[in-house]
Amino acid sequence: MTCLRQNFDIIVVGAGIGGITAALAAARMSPSVLLIEEADEVGGTGVFSSVSLICNFRDSNGRPITSGIHRELFPAAYTHYSEQRVPTYDELVLKATYRKLLAAEPALTVWTGCKVTQAAVQDRVIQHLHLQGSQATEVAARIFLDATADGNLSAMAGMEYELGRTGDGKMQSATATFRVSGLDTSKLENPNILEWSAIHSLRRELLPYYEELQARGGTRNPRQSITCFPYPDGEAVLFNSTSVLGVDPTRPESLARGMEEGARQANELFEAITGHPAFRKAKLDYIAPKLGVREGRRISGEYMLTEEDCLGERHFPDMIAACAYSLDIHSPDGRTTRLERIPGNGYYHIPYRSLIPRGCSNLLLSSRCISGTHEAHSSYRIMASVSAIGEAAGVAAALGVLQHRNDVREIESSHIRYVLQLRGQFTEGVVERIPLPAGPAQRNNSL
Ligand SMILES: Cc1cc2nc3c(=O)[nH]c(=O)nc-3n(C[C@H](O)[C@H](O)[C@H](O)COP(=O)(O)OP(=O)(O)OC[C@H]3O[C@@H](n4cnc5c(N)ncnc54)[C@H](O)[C@@H]3O)c2cc1C
Repeated sequence: MTCLRQNFDIIVVGAGIGGITAALAAARMSPSVLLIEEADEVGGTGVFSSVSLICNFRDSNGRPITSGIHRELFPAAYTHYSEQRVPTYDELVLKATYRKLLAAEPALTVWTGCKVTQAAVQDRVIQHLHLQGSQATEVAARIFLDATADGNLSAMAGMEYELGRTGDGKMQSATATFRVSGLDTSKLENPNILEWSAIHSLRRELLPYYEELQARGGTRNPRQSITCFPYPDGEAVLFNSTSVLGVDPTRPESLARGMEEGARQANELFEAITGHPAFRKAKLDYIAPKLGVREGRRISGEYMLTEEDCLGERHFPDMIAACAYSLDIHSPDGRTTRLERIPGNGYYHIPYRSLIPRGCSNLLLSSRCISGTHEAHSSYRIMASVSAIGEAAGVAAALGVLQHRNDVREIESSHIRYVLQLRGQFTEGVVERIPLPAGPAQRNNSL
């Protein structure tokens, strides 16, 4: 059977936050963009694994070091900021926002229920992709973006990668999150669960019920503590508290086993906390449909970000994004979490070179699979940073098309920063003004 190949300027594979921000950023500069998502709906981990917390994107003086499209996605985190309040979001609201923003871009085509299964590569250039599912066809583009989180596209294209920590290759634990509503906050020591102090107090109150569950061997969850966050309406709580070890997202059977174990732990923990008076009548609304996987392939790029770069607040001349979140390693061995703040000014730069895989001239990394060590990845994997990475990758790809570049390495980071700045994104370093297509490139610069 012959299949007609369809052509686009840019193809983004994966519609989590990294893919969506990349597709929006690129389409706003006019090239034709195709966004492909394997699941039936866009959203990825931030929607279908219900992560809830808007992790820190401010430096130590409270200044946002991520803005741009992240601000369009989470406006309240910018306008209603308070150190006392837990900044969270509702994944259904986020999903609706994604849809609205994507639908507003005439240059953008979105295919869901469609999986990229193969990449044809010749002389370091991805020629086309094979798709299965809702669009069983071949697609070609000038530039491809890997927004699959686990570096699936890069692996298909034969790029080198690393998996897990140095030594034993183990990855961070995975988590099945779950949502609980109907709690009686008047029975809590501190009922205002929208505030950090109350959430910490709630976690302390629930801990004995969880410890009792562990002591009687009622769960295999190795964690030592309970983590939960309020939904923005204060009516429900999201538990990010299960811990499944040994999940390898590059193996489907490992993911399936992980989801089964995560759901079991979620049910066990929910049963245990209903012993607390505030949770007697609570209900388990749902267990997130997708296992929350923190770590997968880290593609080897032109620069590999390290723990020293993060904790050393490193600045790079080719910065295209910044990250203010701690190193946050949910131990591959279970019990503990290493949480270490970025010191000093509280943020570091992400260089453009970390988005460029070694060995390909028309591929950029646009999700948590950028080039970095296990430790550095534990920091920039959060949604604010991945949003900034995606936005920068999308702008870079659009510039590559508009400037007729043959290799993504030829795209100047000073040009990327110029466009990002116009869009209201945080950048540092030299910017070089360049002519841009009238209209779309100038949009959204007054956020
Ligand atoms: C349990 C857990 C809790 C977390 N808590 C927080 C938190 O509180 N705050 C925070 O900011 N961050 C949190 N994070 C981190 C953050 O949510 C993720 O790292 C981030 O959302 C990843 O975004 P992404 O775009 O890189 O990948 P994803 O959102 O995972 O998107 C990748 C997409 O690619 C698609 N895809 C993969 N392969 C293919 C293919 N071959 N063809 C087509 N499509 C494909 C997938 O279906 C998926 O939709 C948490 C993560 C986990 C797991």
